[in-house]
Amino acid sequence: MNTPEVETRLAIDGGRPVRESLLPYARPEIDDDDIAAVVDVLRSGWLTTGPRVAEFEAAFAEQVGARDAIALSSGTAALHAAMHALGIGPGDEVIVASLTFAATANCVVFQGAQPVFADVDPQTLLVTAESVSACKSPRTKAIIAVDFAGQPCDYDALRALAASWNVPLVADACHSLGGSYRGQPVGSLADLSCFSLHAVKHVAAGEGGVVTTDNAEWAGRIRRFRNHGIDSDHRERAAQGSWSYQMIDLGYNYRLSDLQSALALRQLGKLSQSIARRREIARRYDQAFVGCPALRPLATRPETEHAWHLYVVQLDPDRLTADRRLVFQALRAEGVGVNVHYLPVHLHPYYREQFGTAEGDCPAAERAYEQLLTLPLFPAMTDADVDDCVAAVLKVIGAYSRSPAAVAASPRLVSASTAGDHG
Ligand SMILES: *Cc1c(COP(=O)(O)O)cnc(C)c1O
Repeated sequence: MNTPEVETRLAIDGGRPVRESLLPYARPEIDDDDIAAVVDVLRSGWLTTGPRVAEFEAAFAEQVGARDAIALSSGTAALHAAMHALGIGPGDEVIVASLTFAATANCVVFQGAQPVFADVDPQTLLVTAESVSACKSPRTKAIIAVDFAGQPCDYDALRALAASWNVPLVADACHSLGGSYRGQPVGSLADLSCFSLHAVKHVAAGEGGVVTTDNAEWAGRIRRFRNHGIDSDHRERAAQGSWSYQMIDLGYNYRLSDLQSALALRQLGKLSQSIARRREIARRYDQAFVGCPALRPLATRPETEHAWHLYVVQLDPDRLTADRRLVFQALRAEGVGVNVHYLPVHLHPYYREQFGTAEGDCPAAERAYEQLLTLPLFPAMTDADVDDCVAAVLKVIGAYSRSPAAVAASPRLVSASTAGDHG
């Protein structure tokens, strides 16, 4: 085997790229048994909500240790259904993590309520009891925490806070299925937990979502909500030999199909295996970046089992001559499909225009956004793929590093980020 020789001239400057073809940041893994499970459903003739949905829900509830799991058509539908179950409506405020996908906040707006954006801890990029407390008002009706990148938030602190305010705690657990906090699985840590079955998530059904809860009343409201607000489904009516149904609430068609559930059920069976592989890849990255101070992986806390949806690093702008945009483009040119998660939601034009949010609302999330990069991470990556990504990162960071002398010479460089956090 020939050891690949890494040319130091960057691909973006005309050098030879580390990889010939772009490695994506995520890729679903579909095996022959997954395909066979979907084909079985096609042959059964029962395409939408049927036996596979119920089977998937039971397996999911068991996996996360919740009384109920309700399958929906997307993670966004799961978040919307959670807001509906809690009766969130006009005049209400819901505290939402700011560094997340837009859907975490949109679900509040769907209900006519107002999201209030909580800042994140600069090391973990998770909301904290302190950052959530800063958003409290007499109108606060719920909290939505986000397990960013797959690391569960500090649920002891968040639960204690929610209980002291007497408001429910919702987990946007779209990144953290399979993770745990003090030995307790994600999905049983908040009053309602929302998951996505999107193609890049741990359990990929193409599209899909799940809400888990121990509260039977909320579970019932969510089941109705996904089916137009109707009080029974067609299978129950068939079993009772009845045609009549009543619409109780205004609901949506947010159902998951049997086709998707068959795939999701198979994928769920491989969850612990796929997380184990994700963890190995994350360790390999961690070890490779130990000697690279210009690049800092997110902090992980010992009381959590990380689900490793994303491997995120923060660049240290004081040690680099290039900004994140250029580092991003240089890595893409090397064949590494880096990504950025996320533009903080309060900086999207829609929120600025409709809710008057602006720069300065969540300084730590905003600062993090300028420095973030997501490196490829999916279970089917080989060690050689990981090593390519490491080689490309070290090549690009090496090319754009300030000399150690220049870094040491400037006192501003040492203190800038920490001073800002507390200032
Ligand atoms: C994926 C995701 C969602 C939305 O899920 P969809 O299934 O794509 O609707 C919501 N929140 C977070 C944090 C996500 O990563």
